[in-house]
Amino acid sequence: MKVTEHIEKAMGNTLFSFEIIPPVKGRHIKELYDNIDPLMEFKPPFIDVTTSREEYIYIDKNGLLDKKLTRMRPGTVGICASIKHKYNVDTIPHVLCGGFTKEETEYLLVDCHYLGIDNIMALRGDAMKEEKYFEPSKGGHVYASELVEQIHNLNCGQYLHEVVETDYCADFCIGIAGYPEKHMEAPSLQTDLKWLKKKIELGAHYVVTQMFFDNKKYFDFVKAARDMGITVPIIPGIKPIAVKRHLQLLPQVFRIDLPQDLIDAVESCKNNKEVRQIGIEWAILQSKELKAAGVPVLHYYSMGKSDNIKAIAEAIF
Ligand code: FAD
Repeated sequence: MKVTEHIEKAMGNTLFSFEIIPPVKGRHIKELYDNIDPLMEFKPPFIDVTTSREEYIYIDKNGLLDKKLTRMRPGTVGICASIKHKYNVDTIPHVLCGGFTKEETEYLLVDCHYLGIDNIMALRGDAMKEEKYFEPSKGGHVYASELVEQIHNLNCGQYLHEVVETDYCADFCIGIAGYPEKHMEAPSLQTDLKWLKKKIELGAHYVVTQMFFDNKKYFDFVKAARDMGITVPIIPGIKPIAVKRHLQLLPQVFRIDLPQDLIDAVESCKNNKEVRQIGIEWAILQSKELKAAGVPVLHYYSMGKSDNIKAIAEAIF
């Protein structure tokens, strides 16, 4: 079922969902299940599965370093299929511009269609580790808006190089990313919102936000989006702080601000167990306020570990 249908069916009740990361190559999928199992009692209507960018590794060959391009966490679509099958839940693969040609994207979308996957999260993707900025792949899309357009075209039976006359079309519901504190490369929030709106005009059906720790940022963002005529659901993304290092890492990687009260609370912790507890309490406060404001879904970034998400969900759902 589509995300938008789940939201309609909930009739104003806030739904619970979360995002997982595929395991590193060679790890057993059971590790993933062990972290999903405790969250299923909160009845997520859908689970997102991220896609990681490929990266360079260097192999020592008799003193000479051989540079190889590899993907450390492959398997997004396979994991979507296995979770869908095991838990009877909708799964949403994150599909990236970066690292894929348009043709490879088309084949991936065809796979998703055959697997009964109804939703696609369309993203540009992060820059590769070695890159300062995102570099589009040869033959791939430059912006997520182009990917949205490709998925929308496929929904209309329009493949890359031909139109296929068929009643058997894909009908993907398309999710996109939004940034309450603006995307790091955007010169202003207004410009970023302009491109957000473009993605919706090209066929996107809902937005999931980047993490934020101050709900005002989300409320202001939604208001600004609505003022621009954006009417689709805007799902807040919540990440509980888990280790002290997040104080530096999260602003650096995601270009987001952390509220001073949260910083002070984390800094006063003696160890990461205490930090994890602070992260849970903060996310509960955020979630309560967002739920009271009637958000359609509370979407949690689990980063592969579920104990803290379970503690938050127990307090909210
Ligand atoms: P875009 O919408 O293409 O925007 C990128 C930048 O370009 C923005 O600054 C925008 O304002 C600007 N822009 C957009 N269109 C145009 C245009 N036509 N002309 C000029 N400027 C334009 N990354 C991963 O690698 N894997 C994941 O699984 C993943 N999941 C994510 C899930 C969520 C909910 C979010 C919020 C982010 C996720 N990301 C993921 C990170 C995301 O890929 C990065 O933030 C990336 O840098 C931007 O992706 P986007 O889809 O927002 O890009």
